[in-house]
Amino acid sequence: MPGRTVTLTGWGRVSPSSAELAEPATVADAAELLGTGARGVIARGLGRSYNNAAQCAHGLVISTARLNRIIDMDPVTGLAACEAGVSLEQLMVAGLPAGWFVPVSPGTRQVTIGGAIAADVHGKNHHVAGSFARHVRSFEILLPGGQPRTVTEQADPSLFWATAGGMGLTGLIVRATIQLKPVATSRVRVDTVRTADIDETMAVLAEHDRRYGYTVAWSDSLARGAGLGRSVITSGDFAEPADLSPADAKDPFAFRPGARLGVPPGFPPGLINRYTVGLANGAWYRKAPRSRSGEIQTIGTFFHPLDGIRSWNRVYGPGGFRQYQYVLPSGCEAAVRRSFELVSQARAPSFVTVLKRFGAGDEGLLSFPMAGWTLALDFPARTPGLAGLLGSLDRLVVEAGGRVYLAKDSRVPPDVLAEMYPRLAEFRKLRAELDPAGILASDLSRRLGL
Ligand SMILES: Cc1cc2nc3c(=O)[nH]c(=O)nc-3n(C[C@H](O)[C@H](O)[C@H](O)COP(=O)(O)OP(=O)(O)OC[C@H]3O[C@@H](n4cnc5c(N)ncnc54)[C@H](O)[C@@H]3O)c2cc1C
Repeated sequence: MPGRTVTLTGWGRVSPSSAELAEPATVADAAELLGTGARGVIARGLGRSYNNAAQCAHGLVISTARLNRIIDMDPVTGLAACEAGVSLEQLMVAGLPAGWFVPVSPGTRQVTIGGAIAADVHGKNHHVAGSFARHVRSFEILLPGGQPRTVTEQADPSLFWATAGGMGLTGLIVRATIQLKPVATSRVRVDTVRTADIDETMAVLAEHDRRYGYTVAWSDSLARGAGLGRSVITSGDFAEPADLSPADAKDPFAFRPGARLGVPPGFPPGLINRYTVGLANGAWYRKAPRSRSGEIQTIGTFFHPLDGIRSWNRVYGPGGFRQYQYVLPSGCEAAVRRSFELVSQARAPSFVTVLKRFGAGDEGLLSFPMAGWTLALDFPARTPGLAGLLGSLDRLVVEAGGRVYLAKDSRVPPDVLAEMYPRLAEFRKLRAELDPAGILASDLSRRLGL
């Protein structure tokens, strides 16, 4: 088999596994790899999924690292045609000078177009823009066996919606055409509100969804009692040129993704624990203004604060960390409150805790978003009692009719997943027809029988 043997993990650094890693430089080379008849092949972008979705133990992992060319960028229509390994950061660098930004951005811009489609990623604007697939005009995919197929939502809806959110299990996306979003500057005009508890947090988020294009709450997961669910909510929209200072107005589309700080090499692995996270969350909450409006922030500060620190995932030490993200349908506010109680009662230290409302979901068979509330938590994997807490959260999510996010999940049992994704059987049937020889597989798909 081509490539070299490597050990891979996702961003959470749990569940390492070894595979052959191939990095084809052309679509023809990629097709050849898929045509070798190897069993156990999966695509990999920038490895920003938290779990083992882009790994395949003892199989072949096809990285799109060298399929990273922007083929065409139309400055008038904002249509970008690119290879699947192009990152969102590359698209920003190429699009912003002509006034175009990515239509949906997750909390990191180090994500490829292939990974963004395969996880059907969402951003702070889901309530108005939906998830990534809504902005994909077409993509070219190599099916298991290597045959190319150009897919649009109109001409081939079943393959389109199995691939969007399908976690790489329908084939290797090699190219895509994306509709970018017009912006008047590269800065965001941001309003910040500090809320006292979970009820105020949810009320402000609902109200801000009507007024802003982007909004999200950063919550103090360890606060209890009257402060349960207290948060700092930041909401905003792209600034107009008139909002900028004279210095910024000289270069209204400036975007400098460069310089990033690294985690110091001797950073003690056990430093993320309930005491330090409790102190850090409390200090950060008190430092935030009760209310501030009209602050001008850069794209990096507003959308991707964690990208400012290179390899920040290493602060959790060798045990890594587990992300848990759920969505609960609208109307389940009591269950959202209960989930905050479960986390704070367990004293489980989630360093990054983000609450947001989603708009309606799309047709993706395994796409995660649905109209309602989404909460993302991350815990050091070695947190005592974590398995019990996450099991309780699973039950709460299933009872409320919600689901967990496949790009982050590393432990949900297969039968629980089936309760969360009502179209899973349809996805499995389509996979069986598309890939009867079982060529495509990932560690995630093997665990969950996807
Ligand atoms: C700091 C941080 C913040 C994040 N915030 C968000 C957020 O706000 N919203 C959100 O939705 N997600 C978020 N994520 C998750 C991330 O957006 C997704 O996991 C995304 O899929 C990662 O893209 P990638 O290129 O790194 O893909 P990988 O992690 O390498 O792969 C992810 C999946 O995509 C498949 N895949 C990759 N490339 C292709 C291809 N060419 N063809 C077919 N399948 C492919 C893989 O097989 C795998 O199943 C965040 C991640 C991090 C680290």
